[in-house]
Amino acid sequence: MDFKSSKEDEEFRLEVRQFIQDNWDPKGFLGHEMAVRSWDFDNPLSRENDKEFTKKLVDQGWYTMSWPKEYGGGDYPLSKQFVYTEELAYAGAPGGSPASNITGAIMMHGSDEAKKTFLPKMAAGDIEWAQGFSEPNAGTDLASLQTRAVEDGDDYVVTGQKIWSSAAQLGDWYHVLVRTDPDAPKHRGITYLMMNLKDEAGERPEGLTLRPLYDMMGRWRWCEVFMDEVRVPKKYVLGEVNRGWYAAMTTLNFERTGTEGPVRHIGILDRFLDMLKTTKFNGESLLEDPLVKHKIADLRIRLEADRMLAVRVAWMQAQGEVPQSEGAISGLANQITAKLHFWPLLAKILQDYGILNVGEERAPHNGLYGGYNAISLSQGFGGGGGILLGPSIIAQRGLGLPR
Ligand SMILES: Cc1cc2nc3c(=O)[nH]c(=O)nc-3n(C[C@H](O)[C@H](O)[C@H](O)COP(=O)(O)OP(=O)(O)OC[C@H]3O[C@@H](n4cnc5c(N)ncnc54)[C@H](O)[C@@H]3O)c2cc1C
Repeated sequence: MDFKSSKEDEEFRLEVRQFIQDNWDPKGFLGHEMAVRSWDFDNPLSRENDKEFTKKLVDQGWYTMSWPKEYGGGDYPLSKQFVYTEELAYAGAPGGSPASNITGAIMMHGSDEAKKTFLPKMAAGDIEWAQGFSEPNAGTDLASLQTRAVEDGDDYVVTGQKIWSSAAQLGDWYHVLVRTDPDAPKHRGITYLMMNLKDEAGERPEGLTLRPLYDMMGRWRWCEVFMDEVRVPKKYVLGEVNRGWYAAMTTLNFERTGTEGPVRHIGILDRFLDMLKTTKFNGESLLEDPLVKHKIADLRIRLEADRMLAVRVAWMQAQGEVPQSEGAISGLANQITAKLHFWPLLAKILQDYGILNVGEERAPHNGLYGGYNAISLSQGFGGGGGILLGPSIIAQRGLGLPR
């Protein structure tokens, strides 16, 4: 394979870079430094700032560059999409396209009406989705989910509990898996629904209650979602009744791709080094320390290796191949780097300052390193038990080992 982008893609890279320079100002918010939602994710000013930038990407015609033309997208070649997401990630800017996981599921499994209802608003950056898959007893083993939906006229009536729904308190719509046939084998009695989380006045539908779940830094990051006979019109079924599992796998496959992770790390490391070059800690420059220099060089080499694994995935996709074990290797390498190497090393180099959290007066870069070192522990659990799934895919599909 060729690890270099074409001349045309590199020209596009420079165009995107210039656009970001002209239009993206993080305004001091700890924007999108990690793949999971950031420290400031619920700050209305930060959200407004993100939205303004998203609208500029919409006006530029880039926000739906990955979408097929039939849905009003740009149908850009995958190699260009790769360059675009890398540049946004390097700059720590908001993601440059509508949530790919549910978008892909709607395009592939949605009815014409669902496509007409949701896709234009998503293309304009006007809908936020939350995901209701996990339950207290259905995480890695997702197909054990118990939330029930019963037919009643034109509606399904949903009763049950979801957990770990990221930022559902801020969402407009909820894509949720429910059991519609309790007697069928567990993968075959599941239906995929789209549930309204609030009406235009911001009121929750009857029977729907959201309770906060806090992360170890005290942030309301997830929700427990309780549904007590919540009515969902049948027109909001995604895919076929009782075959929701297959549509949900489309969602998870889109969720697991993400080739920009290594470049996001490289951007953060570059800004970290800029800080070290101009700052003295306890009267000394940390860059004078040979151990720090070697550790950083070692980390940078790891990030380059991670990036090459990501480039391989993007290159295979651009050739029309499906990078199954290659995608799993790339994703796993990035998760391992994040939680075992990247964040721990940056925090350790800063010594006592590396444990200071957001809002602490003396915290470098407003506590980015302390905060994200703590929360990076959650990397690898999202996306349907990625930490287990990655090695299973590599073993079975990559190495041909038995199940
Ligand atoms: C940052 C973050 C965001 C999330 N956002 C969402 C969201 O928006 N919507 C949503 O629905 N869910 C979300 N989740 C939940 C996520 O999908 C689940 O955490 C995941 O599926 C794992 O399930 P669990 O937490 O119940 O762990 P469990 O399945 O209970 O696993 C617990 C431990 O046991 C291990 N384990 C499990 N089964 C086996 C096995 N067969 N063999 C060996 N070891 C095993 C696991 O590796 C893990 O270490 C999010 C999670 C995180 C961390």
